[in-house]
Amino acid sequence: MTTLIEFSRCIAQYDPHALPVSAAQAIVRQWVSPVTAVERVPLRDALDRVLATDIVSPINVPSHDNSAMDGYAFKRAALATGNSADESAVQLTIVGKALAGHPFEGGIGVNQCVRVMTGACMPADCDTVVPQELVERNADATSIRFAANAVAAGANRRLAGEDLARGQVALRAGRIMRASDLGLLASLGIGEVSVRRRLRVAFFSTGDELRSLGEPLDPGSVYDSNRYTLFAMLRRLNVDTLDLGVVRDEPAALEAALRSAAASADVVLTSGGVSVGEADFTRQLLRTFGDVAFWSMAMRPGRPLAFGRIWSGERPGVGLPALFFGLPGNPVAVMVTFYQIVREALLLMSGATPQPLPVIHAKSRQAIRKRVGRTEFQRGVAEQDEQGIWHVTPTGSQSSGVLSSMSEANCFIVLGHDEGEIAEGERVDIMLFDGLI
Ligand code: AMP
Ligand code: MG
Repeated sequence: MTTLIEFSRCIAQYDPHALPVSAAQAIVRQWVSPVTAVERVPLRDALDRVLATDIVSPINVPSHDNSAMDGYAFKRAALATGNSADESAVQLTIVGKALAGHPFEGGIGVNQCVRVMTGACMPADCDTVVPQELVERNADATSIRFAANAVAAGANRRLAGEDLARGQVALRAGRIMRASDLGLLASLGIGEVSVRRRLRVAFFSTGDELRSLGEPLDPGSVYDSNRYTLFAMLRRLNVDTLDLGVVRDEPAALEAALRSAAASADVVLTSGGVSVGEADFTRQLLRTFGDVAFWSMAMRPGRPLAFGRIWSGERPGVGLPALFFGLPGNPVAVMVTFYQIVREALLLMSGATPQPLPVIHAKSRQAIRKRVGRTEFQRGVAEQDEQGIWHVTPTGSQSSGVLSSMSEANCFIVLGHDEGEIAEGERVDIMLFDGLI
């Protein structure tokens, strides 16, 4: 069994005392593997689930060439019969009609046309549709006239298979199913799909000062908020959650909680207890039944982070394994670490192919203090001006304990590892919360 330390040494820039965010992400990305179990679910239940296999289109969509407009279908050769200057140059006799679901079965000559409605099958040999608003009909509606340049040959015809061709991969394994995907599979006649089983994630908070909701707040204590943020962030990723409450800063209690969490979940998340001062006892404890690295991240907020594997048994490798993240205790640090490090790991374990989070450019409305050599995720309020340019203002307090800064903000201002001070008006990267939080 390769240990995490052995494995991590192969990663460029590995320095457990000042680990760049990108190096931590690389380690986590390569260390995790997806759950293998797959289940069949009806199409509606596939929303937000991870597709387990490629879906190959069994049919052409649309199945036949059809009209894109309400109008008249004819053979392109008819266009050569008129001249462009004369608005009534092309004259065609109407010989029938085709509605969506009611095809025209006959054939037509070059001077004939078929009345067609949007979605109707193109009559045999017809390849062009002139929209109804471009034609003039004679008094008894038996023929139409229009200029030869009113439409191009082949216009307004949707081709069979132009949406999806038979045999083509319609959706790839690893896709997180969205509304359009459900519709797309329905258009292929597919009513059931294979998805990865949901990931099970257990979490608890550590700290003697923490009180759960409903308990009185005695002096020096704080309500446990991390379990609620974690619950909500996990829900957004559509994983099954297991809330194990608050655990006291006591080795026996912590050991029992961690081992039982490993027995019942794929991933165990804790908050608190990994900062300098508390880390020593957690570190010692985890060594007995885990393979866990304690990192000091070159990141703000979210400096301390423990990552690795733990087992439900007495020793590493004994009992059931779980991936482990020991997150910092500070409420903002929990969220930032979750989004930057944990989120991708959970998506990968769920079998998904994570897409990088979109980053856009904005002009900072203020100078921002920043030290070279760490990545900062400041909370900001971004808005677009009339020219469409984004501007961002950091929220007041950037302390990692001030959770209201996250509620006030609508984006992270991402200040890169090698970036220094930011001047007013300078360009910065922002990561909008919309779709993330
Ligand atoms: P720790 O990492 O355990 O030293 O905690 C750092 C700071 O975060 C301390 O001020 C803790 O009181 C606070 N904290 C830790 N866990 C939680 C939690 N679950 N909810 C709210 N605050 C917390
Ligand atoms: Mg603590």
